[in-house]
This record gives sequence, C-alpha cells and structure tokens, in this order.
Amino acid sequence: MLITYDRLSIGGEWVAPSTEARIKVTNASTGAQIGSVPEASEPDIDAAVSAARMAFDNNSGWSTWAPTQRALALRSLADQLEQRAENMAHRVSSQNGMPISISRHLEGMHPVSVLRYYADLAERMPVEEDRDGINGPVVVRRQPVGVVAAIAPWNFPQTLAAFKYAPALAAGCTLVIKPSPETVLDSALFAEAVHASDIPAGVVNVVPGGREAGAYLVGHRDVDKVAFTGSTAAGRSIGEVCGRLLRPVTLELGGKSAAIVLDDADLNLERIGQELFAATLFNNGQTCFLGTRILAPRSRYAEVVDAIATLASSLRVGDALDPETQIGPMVSRSHRDRVERYIAKGKEEGARLVVGGGRPRGDGPGWFVEPTVFADVDNRSTIAQEEIFGPVLSIVSYTDDDDAIWIANDSDYGLGGSVWTNDPKRGRAVANRVQTGTIGINHYRPDLAAPFGGFKNSGVGRELGPEGLAAYQQLQTIFC
Ligand code: NAD
Repeated sequence: MLITYDRLSIGGEWVAPSTEARIKVTNASTGAQIGSVPEASEPDIDAAVSAARMAFDNNSGWSTWAPTQRALALRSLADQLEQRAENMAHRVSSQNGMPISISRHLEGMHPVSVLRYYADLAERMPVEEDRDGINGPVVVRRQPVGVVAAIAPWNFPQTLAAFKYAPALAAGCTLVIKPSPETVLDSALFAEAVHASDIPAGVVNVVPGGREAGAYLVGHRDVDKVAFTGSTAAGRSIGEVCGRLLRPVTLELGGKSAAIVLDDADLNLERIGQELFAATLFNNGQTCFLGTRILAPRSRYAEVVDAIATLASSLRVGDALDPETQIGPMVSRSHRDRVERYIAKGKEEGARLVVGGGRPRGDGPGWFVEPTVFADVDNRSTIAQEEIFGPVLSIVSYTDDDDAIWIANDSDYGLGGSVWTNDPKRGRAVANRVQTGTIGINHYRPDLAAPFGGFKNSGVGRELGPEGLAAYQQLQTIFC
C-alpha cells in the first residue's frame, strides 16, 4: 500500500500545499514506488519560516520558557518518537537501503536518545553566569539564536535531523526542517510525532523539497541560523550565502577517512570483524565518517588485504528490510551508477580489484553493489581521494607510523578515522597526529556526549555534546 500525505506540517497543523507538486519515493531494494508527499514551494517555505518566527518572537512563547519546561516538551517528543520507532526504521530502510538491523537502532531509537540527552543537558547547563569582571559584576547570558533552518541528507535522515533539532529545541530555538527528497516519508512520520507531543505549534515545521527549496530556505530573510549536513559541494555554496548574510552556520560535510592498521594490530576477524565492519562499511558505505582508505603496513600488507577481503566477501547482501542483511542497496539508481563509475575508475587507474566490483543481483531489481575491495591503491588516485559513498574500500600501503600519519593527512577531508593496534598508548599517539575531527582506537563509535564534526573540507562547527547545544546559543553580556 502506498504511503500518501496530502498536506504539509506547518505552524502545528497539516495545511494544504500551495501547488500540486509532489515528491515520489521509491524502495531502494526493489525500485517500486512506495509513497509520496507534497513538495513545499516558496510560499510554503515562507509560511513555515513565518510560523517559526512567530513562535520564536512570541513574548510568552517557546524561547522564553524555562529550560526545565522545555526539557519536559523534548521528553514528550522523545516518547512520541519511541512509539513510532519501528515504523520509522521501516520507512527509512525502505527508502534509503539502510539494513533494518541498523535503522531500528539508529533511525528508530537514536533520535529518542538524542532528545533525552539534550533534555537532561538543558536542565543541567546554566543559561546565566555571574562573573567578577575587571570593572565590576558581569552577567553572561546564553540566549537562543532564533529561527533555525535545518537541512538533512538521506543517509541517516532522522538521526542527523535530531542532531540539529534536539539541541536547537533545548536552547529555545524554533525550526524549519528540510529533509532530502529521497527520504520524506520518515519526515512526515516525524511531523506526526511533533503534533502529538507537547512541542507548541509553530516551533517545528517541515518542508519537504530538493536543492532549490534548501537554497531558498538558507537565504530566507527571517532565518537566523543554518545547520546543514550533506555534501561538501552543497556545504560550500551554503557557506558562501551565510558568509554574505553574516548568518551563523554549522556544516557537517563529506569525508574520506583513514583506517590505520598498525603493524601490531589484531587481525582476527572473529574478534574485530564487527568493529571493523562498523568503521569501514556501515550502512552500505553510505556513511560520512567511514575509514574507506585502509592504511596497511608493508610488513603485513598481504595479511591486511586478506582480512579486509574476507570481511567484505562474507557480508550478507540483501533486501534492506531483511533482518539478516548486512549490506543493502544504494539509495537510488543514479547513486548506484555513481558508485559503479568510481569502481571503473579504480580499475582504470591501475588499482588491483580483490573482491566485488559487480552487481550481486545482476540486473535484478534494486540498486545493489557488491562490497568491493581494491588493493595496491595509490593514495593520490581518484578512489583514494574522492568520497564514493558506497561499499568500496581502498587499501594503501605505508612504511612506518610517520608515513601512515602522513598518508592519512594527505586528504582534503578530515572527518572520521580509526587506528588498529594492540598498544593503546601507541594508538593514542597516532590518533593525536591525524588531522580529523573524530577518530577511534580499535573501533569507531560516535558518542552523544562528545562533539562530532570535521576538519578541512569536512565542515565547520560541531554537533553533539554541550558544544552542540552552544551552537544554538548566542552570548549576551550585561555589565551590572
Ligand atoms: P547533498 O549535499 O546533495 O544534500 C544534502 C541536503 O542538502 C539535501 O536535503 C539537499 O536537498 C540539500 N541541498 C543540496 N544542495 C543545497 C543547496 N545548495 N542549498 C541548500 N540545500 C541544499 O548530500 P546527500 O547526497 O543528501 O548526502 C550525502 C552527503 O552528505 C555525503 O557527502 C556525506 O558525506 C555527507 N554527510 C555528512 C555527514 C557529517 O556529519 N559530516 C553526515 C552524513 C552525510
């Protein structure tokens, strides 16, 4: 049965869209259409921003509530999302191909945890601080920044939206959320949860649309801050607009991280296979932080290639809704074609294809790509420098730890990464020298309480942790 919505969630109500344009969504595992929603056009975005503006400016409204009061409303939204978690996971996996075993946790339950984390933090973090200034007493106040335009990608649509709306709401901001056109059915379910929660009308508005809708929202006169997750190309253009408008912006962008295998690493897949998978191939490779460049010491090169090839070829590829599936399809035909172009480029540039490279279902339905491993990859080659965003790993050799660090840093990006070693001290020493916003030792697990974001072309600013809350606050100093 098709999932069909006829209205948009604006100002706390389901309102008729201003045009008949619709966004149709397909199942990535089968290619079949599964639903549609109205596409928001400029008048709808104007209405959404205006609702958010009114909800923010209202003298007794959301932004004036005590943090403890707001925390209660955040928890009520968390409860509503928890009730819908299974449905949410199902919708996300159908649309973007994320294995359901991952989306149950990450798209169903994780936003619930993010909301509860920020509800707790809002209660704990003081919004006013008295200081002894040089000239007398001073009060430093943390005020909500205002109306936030939150733009999310399709790969973790609910979690990455939550990284924005949860701290923004905790800070007292109001929002207009623009989901990706590939994943709008989950955003409609999210809007249902907002309506059923204690979040006041107009505080959260959802405008499904594409790039043009996003660009219109980013430049809207009544937006005070932009929070974006997506490609570096789009982030650059959003950053330019925000620079011109002097509008605060957080940019979480692409990555091409290094998984550095040191010469003392444990390569037993029974012990490390699960963590290695999560750090390099999670969500079909459609994950920004993955260590898709595996750096292997010359002294154990053949062993590393063997371990990575064994891991990749052992993964179960299948329908995203099958609980046994470890690798689902790419989000769309055009994205599958893009990943395949990179595989062709890797061969053309002389890398050695060790496993994969084809379509596991031949020309059958769905946008599947076999988990693929290239060895003997030159770190300057296209497949080692550009983000592929699919299940494709490149193994690059190095001589010693200094060389590994140099190669890891020889990238325009700096988002994630990992170091694999039996010596935690040595792992830390290497991690400290990698130019990246986040890095794990013998695993890669982002943490709600710790800042997440990138160096270099991977972004500007941080989400999560208290730093993620501060991104939605501006400081006012009162000299008393
Ligand atoms: P994308 O940049 O094409 O689109 C992301 C979102 O931005 C979508 O909602 C899209 O409609 C919108 N958009 C695109 N151009 C815009 C513009 N000029 N102005 C305003 N909005 C615009 O990215 P995608 O293909 O949806 O997502 C994949 C990319 O996201 C990858 O590069 C990946 O690395 C990155 N990503 C980064 C993180 C992170 O935290 N750093 C997390 C997940 C994904």
